[in-house]
Amino acid sequence: MLRITELKLPLDHADEALRQAIVQRLGISDQDLLNFSIFKRSYDARKKNTELLFIYAVDVTLANEAVVLERFADDHNLGPTPDMAYRFVGQAPSEVRSRPLVVGFGPCGIFAALVLAQMGFRPVVLERGKEVRQRTKDTWGLWRKAQLNPDSNVQFGEGGAGTFSDGKLYSQIRDPQHHGRKVLEEFVKAGAPEEILYVNKPHIGTFRLTGMVENMRQEIIALGGEIRFESKVTDLLMEDGQLQGVQLASGEQLMSRHVVLALGHSARDTFRMLHARGVFMEAKPFSIGFRIEHPQSVIDKARLGKYAGHPKLGAADYKLVYHASNGRSVYSFCMCPGGTVVAATSEPGRVVTNGMSQYSRNERNANSGLVVGISPEQDYPGGPLAGIELQEKLESAAYLLGGSNYQAPGQLVGDFIAGRATTALGSVEPSYKPGVTLVDLAPSLPAFAIEAIREALPAFDRQIKGYSMHDAVLTGIETRTSSPLRITRDDSFQSLNLKGLFPAGEGAGYAGGILSAGVDGIRVAEAVAKSLLGL
Ligand SMILES: Cc1cc2nc3c(=O)[nH]c(=O)nc-3n(C[C@H](O)[C@H](O)[C@H](O)COP(=O)(O)OP(=O)(O)OC[C@H]3O[C@@H](n4cnc5c(N)ncnc54)[C@H](O)[C@@H]3O)c2cc1C
Repeated sequence: MLRITELKLPLDHADEALRQAIVQRLGISDQDLLNFSIFKRSYDARKKNTELLFIYAVDVTLANEAVVLERFADDHNLGPTPDMAYRFVGQAPSEVRSRPLVVGFGPCGIFAALVLAQMGFRPVVLERGKEVRQRTKDTWGLWRKAQLNPDSNVQFGEGGAGTFSDGKLYSQIRDPQHHGRKVLEEFVKAGAPEEILYVNKPHIGTFRLTGMVENMRQEIIALGGEIRFESKVTDLLMEDGQLQGVQLASGEQLMSRHVVLALGHSARDTFRMLHARGVFMEAKPFSIGFRIEHPQSVIDKARLGKYAGHPKLGAADYKLVYHASNGRSVYSFCMCPGGTVVAATSEPGRVVTNGMSQYSRNERNANSGLVVGISPEQDYPGGPLAGIELQEKLESAAYLLGGSNYQAPGQLVGDFIAGRATTALGSVEPSYKPGVTLVDLAPSLPAFAIEAIREALPAFDRQIKGYSMHDAVLTGIETRTSSPLRITRDDSFQSLNLKGLFPAGEGAGYAGGILSAGVDGIRVAEAVAKSLLGL
């Protein structure tokens, strides 16, 4: 198979145009092109005055590959297709004596369990929340009726934190062993649209994610794994620096010397238990800020110009960074085109926001986090749990500012820049449910963060015209951008001071999104398998 890159076609090209372009590019006859598939499709919207084109990379099977390869020997955009197959590190013996445990069934735990199951290790998954259908009802309970279930919500339950999300699948991780490709291929097998394998910025959307999570659960069970919901791990069983098992909230104990800990960033009670048990952890940087909402049409126009609204391009996204004069960095985080702002607390008496979209991305507003980076050295020097304590303090204050009923505090961008409280909404209807209370957001974050965001808004407007429009809405607050701590691991992926504990994913500080959490799950599953096989 050969790969051709940089094949350019107009946005509105006919289906058969790609085949014709390949034949033409290679100077071969149509019947010599036996087969082809798209490896990547992107477009570059940065040059506003040139025609917007799709740029393809395609894998082709030809009748006479060797001849073509020789003819194009000096062509950098044509060569043999690299082998991208994922390979397991080993297979379990037919009799598995010690079954590994996986704590948490978010993307990291799902992929750890799936790959362990595919290798034959029959893992047992322990998830504090409920299965995804029931969890969806509980999550809507907060959004519709302001009723929170602390163990079944937008953060906790089957599928983990990314289940009610935009399902963006981009990541900047290096992928020499094709773990990222494995995640995407498994997602497609479970029901994701096939285009996630080749579009530049793939996304899945909330509705499809729910069904996919169920399908992946079924596969793990079919391979001999077990998944136990409403099974919260509340303690560790240890002996001489070696983990022996875990204890559940019910008091039940499960023995295993291999435990993958894929908790996500919101399991504050479990982090505290681990700290009390002496598991090594350290505070790490994260970010705080607001969600910002604009009409999607403003973003489309600024990003795509005359191509705004083109059905092949969908709703436009953006990525922004600004270095403020007080030394802080402000950036856009988890941008959700055509989506909604969601209530994302897992704890009573706290307010925190995030964003989600459906696959169609056709809601009226675009939203993203508008956040400022903070660090333990500068902002919360009090030890491994100090970041959590800061998050809790800010989220509790936001709850009070919003009216103590899970409404979020909000303000128009024009008023925020002018430093006055908002008293009435303008043209942008905020999407956060159960609702937004109009206030002055200045007291909701430390002064340096408010200052930096105020300075960043007009700067971002120079990149995206309309970004600092008066009526755009800020909704507070965004605090769970990533884990505030790291459960540090050694080269064998085990805790620095507790053998048999394999910290993984976002909560352990080793991932920052669905794709990277899935990849980390696979890497940790491989480490567990190697340890079990004595490799
Ligand atoms: C609303 C929202 C939108 C998002 N949008 C995107 C997006 O579009 N793209 C993207 O890449 N990322 C997105 N993210 C982030 C992404 O969801 C996370 O990075 C990812 O889910 C992390 O995966 P994880 O498996 O490490 O942890 P999680 O997904 O958080 O899963 C951890 C699991 O562990 C369980 N658990 C915790 N403690 C215990 C315990 N003691 N015992 C048993 N189980 C326990 C939890 O219930 C949870 O199910 C979004 C997050 C949210 C909240």
